[in-house]
Amino acid sequence: MGLRDVMLEELRDLYSAENQLVKALPKLAKAAQDEELQQSFSEHLEETTGQVERLKEVFSLLEEKPTGKHCKGMEGLIEEGKEAIDEEEEGEAYDIGLIGAAARVEHYEIAGYTAVIAMLKGLGLEEAAEPLVETLNEENEALEKLESKLQDLIVASAADASEDEEDEESEEEDTVTASKSRPAETSRSGSKRREVSVRN
Ligand code: FE
Ligand code: ZN
Ligand code: FE
Repeated sequence: MGLRDVMLEELRDLYSAENQLVKALPKLAKAAQDEELQQSFSEHLEETTGQVERLKEVFSLLEEKPTGKHCKGMEGLIEEGKEAIDEEEEGEAYDIGLIGAAARVEHYEIAGYTAVIAMLKGLGLEEAAEPLVETLNEENEALEKLESKLQDLIVASAADASEDEEDEESEEEDTVTASKSRPAETSRSGSKRREVSVRN
């Protein structure tokens, strides 16, 4: 089996992976509590459908068929994504779990595209590599977005934790000085709390 065959296997693997993601991303978007995170999942879904089209384009340039392989790696990552969706956490901690799963997906794709682009170039198939370089850029940007949201949520969750402590302290004060009002619940921007009843 020569380099071209290995490259085609990798390409078919990516095609399967992207198609699985088209089905999985709406579930992540639906689950995300943070509106920005929800939006970036939805945007990446749009990009992902474009990435499927690019792969089709590459296969037609190579005069090959895209089908015939199932990406088990992506199947496993999506399975773990479902576990994150089923977590019984609230707020930032819940979204942080989703990001952990989604970031693994991006890393997996980045590894796949990096390898296949190198193989295409090695085979002198520069034209076929070009659209995949665009896809690789999208994957990298998606990962960066996830990482920056992760940082924001970690900061917010630390702020929440100290807010809770203050609440507890002021509760104790309340029992002593009844006239003192409790600080208003500050709602975090871009974050919506899921109704407990939605989760089982
Ligand atoms: Fe992708
Ligand atoms: Zn795979
Ligand atoms: Fe991706």
